[in-house]
Amino acid sequence: RFHTTTGSDVFSKIIRGEIPSTKRYEDDFCIAFDDLSPAAPVHVLIIPKLHTRGISNLFGSGAEDEVESALPLVTEPINDAEVVGKLFAAAARVAEAIGIDKTGYRLVINNGGDAGQTVFHLHLHLLGGRELT
Ligand code: 5GP
Repeated sequence: RFHTTTGSDVFSKIIRGEIPSTKRYEDDFCIAFDDLSPAAPVHVLIIPKLHTRGISNLFGSGAEDEVESALPLVTEPINDAEVVGKLFAAAARVAEAIGIDKTGYRLVINNGGDAGQTVFHLHLHLLGGRELT
């Protein structure tokens, strides 16, 4: 299911190091980096190192299309639920490392145009560092 082809979206380019980013965390599966236009004092994006457009592409009826690895690294098939689970686990680690796990934080996934999704590579927003309305 996961091929070693390359994603052409901006986040796949960040994964491959073709576009610079301020990294907060990285492992074989995912990478976390600061959002370019932060909406809060802490605004980190956590993305899988494989390309899928979003939640509806992962779990919806079109789930079989467009999932590909942005790097040759992730070549083993991985359970869809595990993809999302690993993103949330990484977000919790990043929040703890930054020191906002006690004050609180928000995790958001925008899916599709009405949600305001602008980058079509699945990503989890980690927001915190102030009281969020
Ligand atoms: P979305 O609205 O798709 O859920 O969120 C996309 C996010 O990616 C936005 O918050 C936007 O500021 C961020 N973003 C877009 N391009 C870049 C980039 O090249 N580098 C970084 N670090 N963030 C980006």
